[in-house]
This record gives sequence, C-alpha cells and structure tokens, in this order.
Amino acid sequence: MQRKRLEIEGIVQGVGFRPFVYQLACRVGVAGWVRNDSRGVTIEVEGEGAILAEFLRQLQEQLPPLASISRLSEQPLPPCGERDFHIHHSASDSAALAQIAPDSHVCADCLRELFDPADRRYRYPFINCTNCGPRYTIVTAIPYDRPFTTMADFPMCPACQGEYADPGSRRFHAQPNACPECGPQLALRDSQGQLLAAEVPLAATTDLLAAGQIVAIKGLGGYHLAVDAANDTALAELRRRKGRDEKPFALMAFDLPMVARFAEIDAIEQRLLESPERPIVLLRRRADAPLSPLVAPHNRYVGVMLPYTPLHYLLLQQFPALVMTSANLSDEPIAFEDADATGRLAQIADAFLSHNRRIQTRTDDSIGRVMAGRALLLRRSRGFVPRAVALPKEQPAVLALGAELKSTFCLTRGDRAFLSQHIGDLKNQQVYASFAEGIEHLQGLLQLQPQIVAHDLHPDYLSSRYAGELTKLPRVAVQHHHAHLVSCMAENCVTAPALGVIFDGLGYGSDGRLWGGEFLLGDARGFQRLGHLAYLPMPGGDAATREPWRMAVAALVHAYGDDLPQLPWLTALPAADLRLLRQMIAKGLNSPLTSSCGRLFDAVAALAGVRQKVSYEGQAALELEIVLEGGPEAGEYLFELQTQDDLLVVDPAPMIRALVADLQGGGAPGLLSARFHNGLARVIGQVCDRLRQQQGIAAVALSGGVFQNRYLTERTLEILGKLNFSVYTHSLVPPNDGGLALGQAVIAGAAGVQA
Ligand code: ZN
Ligand code: ZN
Ligand code: FE
Repeated sequence: MQRKRLEIEGIVQGVGFRPFVYQLACRVGVAGWVRNDSRGVTIEVEGEGAILAEFLRQLQEQLPPLASISRLSEQPLPPCGERDFHIHHSASDSAALAQIAPDSHVCADCLRELFDPADRRYRYPFINCTNCGPRYTIVTAIPYDRPFTTMADFPMCPACQGEYADPGSRRFHAQPNACPECGPQLALRDSQGQLLAAEVPLAATTDLLAAGQIVAIKGLGGYHLAVDAANDTALAELRRRKGRDEKPFALMAFDLPMVARFAEIDAIEQRLLESPERPIVLLRRRADAPLSPLVAPHNRYVGVMLPYTPLHYLLLQQFPALVMTSANLSDEPIAFEDADATGRLAQIADAFLSHNRRIQTRTDDSIGRVMAGRALLLRRSRGFVPRAVALPKEQPAVLALGAELKSTFCLTRGDRAFLSQHIGDLKNQQVYASFAEGIEHLQGLLQLQPQIVAHDLHPDYLSSRYAGELTKLPRVAVQHHHAHLVSCMAENCVTAPALGVIFDGLGYGSDGRLWGGEFLLGDARGFQRLGHLAYLPMPGGDAATREPWRMAVAALVHAYGDDLPQLPWLTALPAADLRLLRQMIAKGLNSPLTSSCGRLFDAVAALAGVRQKVSYEGQAALELEIVLEGGPEAGEYLFELQTQDDLLVVDPAPMIRALVADLQGGGAPGLLSARFHNGLARVIGQVCDRLRQQQGIAAVALSGGVFQNRYLTERTLEILGKLNFSVYTHSLVPPNDGGLALGQAVIAGAAGVQA
C-alpha cells in the first residue's frame, strides 16, 4: 500500500474537477480525498502502486473539458488505512493562487435537456452544469463558491440542492446551478424600463424582432442590441440611433449550416466557431448571402458567432440569424448593469429582454479570424479571460497598463500572466472607470499585490497617467514597439533575442517621434532599433488619422516634390484645402513625422481611390486588404533601402511612383492593392535578410496591428520561410494594442529581476 499527496494548479476550480476526481477514484479503486484550496486542488490517494499509477495516468488524460493542469506535484506519505474516497469542503486559507475559469458556452448535455419536453429544465434559459455556463462574469470574490458569485441571490430548491450535493450528478458543485423553481427569470421591459406584461417574454421578444424592432438582450458579459439581419429598415435605424455609420455588426446564427448560408467556412474556421470560447469569427461573405448590405458595408467579410447561452439558443431557434452587436453608443463601454442599460440605451432600444442574474464583470465578445492555418484573436475577451498565459520563467508580480485605444491590462504571478478582457478606448470616461475597477477586481481575485507597474512610454496616454498616480510602486516605462515584440515572444515562450518586424498605427518612439514601421532586435531586457519605414509628415496630426487623403498628399510630395502628378481625386479636392495642406507639409506646421506603416496603408488606400476619410480606426487599411485581388497577381511595387545614421530606412518613394503609373494606366484598386502588399512583404524579407547578415540572428517576430492583415501576414510568412527564418506570430494574444500589456509585463518583470 502507498499514499500520495498531489497538489495541482491550473484551471481546476469551477470546472467539475472534484467530481471527476471522485468518480475516477471510485472507478479505479483508490481511497483518500480531494479538496479545493487557494492554490488549486489537493488530492490524497491511497492504494496499491499499480492502481495509483493508473489513477494518475487517467487523471491527466481524461480531464473535464474546461479543466487544464499547469502544475502537478507529488509527495509520498505514510499509508493510514483509509477505505473510502471523500470530497472535502473548500479551505479558504493563504493567498489564492487558483485560476478562475472563463465563461463557457452551454454544453451538449445541457442543450439536450433544454430541448427535452420531459426534462424539468425544458426551455429554461439559465440551464448549466459543472462543465458549462457562466464563470468569470459572475465571480465576485474567491474561492469560487456559490456565495462568492452573483448566484448568491438565488437559494437552491431541494431538487437543485440534491444535484449540487450529489457527487454522481452532472451538477455536483456546479455553482451557477439553477432551475425554473429557484433560479433567475427573464423579464421584458419597454424602452422606458417599464415591465411589459408578457406571459412568455421570449415569444414576445421574437415577435418584436420579427416586426423589425431593436431589442437589447442581456447576455453573459453585457447587453447586445439585436435586430433581424435581413431587415434593411431596422438596420438603418440601429445605425442611426447608435451613431455608427459603417463599422461592421456581428451576427449570431443558430448553427453551422445556417452560417454556411452567409459565409464560406473552412475546417479551421469551423473549429474556431465551435470552440467553447465561441468568439466572433471573421468569415468571407457569400455573394448570395441573405443579409442586409447594412450589416457590413464595403466589406467582403462578415463576423459571425454561434449561440453560447441557452437563451441565445432559444431565441435563435425562432430566428435563424440576428445582428448581435454590443449594446452601447459608439466608444462607450458595453452596458451590463440593468439600471445603467435602461438609462443609456433608452434612445436606442425599443425593448429590453433582461433577467435578474447580475453580471459582475463586463466582457465583450472575443473576435478572431483564421490566418496561415491557425486562429488569430483580434480581440481577446469573453471565453478567454481570465485564462493565464504561461511565461517562460518566474518573475516579480507586475501590473502592466497597456496602451489607450484598445485598452487591456495584465497582471503577473510567478510564471503566469493574466491579460484582462478588452476594455476599450480610455479617453471615454466610463471606459476609464471600468479600467480602474477591472484592475481592482482582478487583483482581488488573484490576491495579488503588484511590486512593479509597467506603462507605455507615451506620457499622455491615460494609462501612463494612471501609472503616475500609483506613487508607491516602482514604475517602468516601456517603448511601445518593444512591448509588441516581447508580447509576441512571450506568447511563443521565446526568450533568446529576436528580430522584430513591428508594424502598427502609432506608438511613441524613444526619440520622441511617432513610430510604427519598425525593425527591432531585442528581448525582455532591452532592444535596439535597426531600421524603419521612412518618416512621412502627418499633416494636421490626428486629423491625418481620420482623413487618409492627407497621408496620400504627404506621400505624393515625398515621392514627387513640388510637381504632383495629375490624379482624379487630387484635382477634385478644393484647391484651397490642397494648398493649405501643402503649405503645412512644406513648413512642417502641425505635421509630426511618422514611420507608421498604418499611415502608409492609409496613404495607399486614398491614392488607390479606396477611401479618403474613415469612420472607424483601421478602416482604410482593412478596405485596402478587402479590395485586394490576390491569386495570380505576382507584380510588386519596390521600395528602396537606404542607410541613414546606421539605420536601414525603407523608402516608399519608388513604390508610390509605380502605383501612380498604374493608376494613370487605369489599374483597378484590387490590382494596386495586391502589388502594394506584395512589395511590402518583399521588402520585409530583404530587410530581415540584411539584418541577419549584420546581427547573426535568424528568428523573427511579427507583431503590431498591421499583422491583423491576412494577405500581408501569409505572404510575409511565405517569403521569410523561403529565406529559412524561424518566424513567430501571434495567435491567442492579439497583435494589436490589445496584446501590448503582456509585453510590457514581461519587460518590467525582467527589469525587476535585474534591479
Ligand atoms: Zn452543461
Ligand atoms: Zn432549483
Ligand atoms: Fe501598437
């Protein structure tokens, strides 16, 4: 006889781990006990050596679907003659190191019961079990137990209590366990928040949607605004009320065959759509899709998700596809508290389908697309948060505050990094408040006192100012593109120095200029800038970000000097506007210099006639990618490589002249776009090749928001692959500023170790 103590860390609480261990122990025939504690789960098992080995093997191979083990330690103990196996109650001692599970889509077993007329939870919109349901969004404190969730409001009925206490039940210790007798209930309200006397709120809701009304629907991490995806009038009204002109809306469709009516889906996209995280997936829209063009204007893609709550299934069963967009006015955070929702959305929603289970933490839907054969998250939020990213090594506890526009923050503990949910643009006051609250809440759940604060080098970012208020802690300011590089390296568990191709919108450079087309060499301890795109003026500063035509003029002046070529859109500009802009460029008035690749995309999009003004961030670059006709097009616009002050400078002047020549020859935007993308991928290969000769390093990390572009990324990977580089790209951490805090955290951690 032997006895062992097993200590397990990872996602092992709130995911059916203890009943799984109990059932396994009974099946294999070992005695002992299991309990949750603040580090994870502790098990003691007693039995014959071979049986213990079998228990250990199956423990690791047959984990419940939401569980994962990040560390397992074994310790021999003297046998004590125990005969049975028990589940002990939670011990709430010491610092909580257990990981709280992310929210999960409703599982197949629960769905079967949902649609089974004989089941006591038939059509109950809050059905869940140990393997599925809300988690992070309802947790108020640790340990993860019902009193510390928003389900504390609902005492269980005897039937639910019986399941909860029965180790043989699918709902043993399922903290959100509920039924129609004892659990949350739906309610339908009008636009003023007055309760509507609907006998069946769900049926009344589908009637409203069928009549073209806008209904705010409370989900897992916040409210959605739902409308019929085929109804032009309803969509036009939604865009008008929400103040959103062109930014695409996401769809929810009942199942895969329904999604296939709107969009093309390959095997990897299918897997991403069906994953437990249920993100919105960007898919190529079918030409014959039965959708209103107002779902995603000027866009060949459409963002689709499958239902993830039981309520969604019940709604979508009646209604094959709905627009389901975050319930907010542009730039505001998604509404998640009932009173706030009815207040803020009164002018937008015709009705509210709400319920009385509180949402503790607001989380938006995650967004992903498939690139180079794997998933890439563009927004990492609901379903993924707060799952930890494994770091290559242990480091001091860091709070990293991210950037400003696609704000997220990151907390580290040991060798784990906890990247927060998407928070949004901090310049909005409510978003900023949510940022501060989110930091407090996650610090509480992780029982973490950060030792170091990391922030962006940009002194005016609100996140940097927030850091400035934390006066008791040492602060580390991290250069923006260095953080992107290390974020990508950390996601790939790389510590050796690598080259970084970091292309994004704008980030504050070490020289005080606006960087964004950078070739770096570095690791967590530091970096060197080895090259960059040539500086171009941004006439009008921020206005140039909203009006790509300004960047196009700057690019033309850069390539041609005073004699600008004749182009239709240029001659169509009011002469005074053009004259003023050229004066600003010539005199350097309100025209900061930037090496941004995002601004170069803007210039090309405007030159090619794709877009002169944008209504949301990244629109011009996105549309330039969308018009692209790839396939057989092998032509490319060449850039010129120069050396200035020991830096390689990539000059777009010849590229711009070649593009203008094509344009004057009647080249279509799709052709111009393809040749631009091809040329950019080519020059990335050329620069990396030169830097490898110079530095002797053959590893390249691709990061920054520009690498959300599928065509550019795949083409660059192909070229770098042929040149025998090892290339690291993002997958579950976004390449845009939403992933920045991870890099900041690792850099500050390394600085802390050195100090
Ligand atoms: Zn379930
Ligand atoms: Zn009940
Ligand atoms: Fe960035």
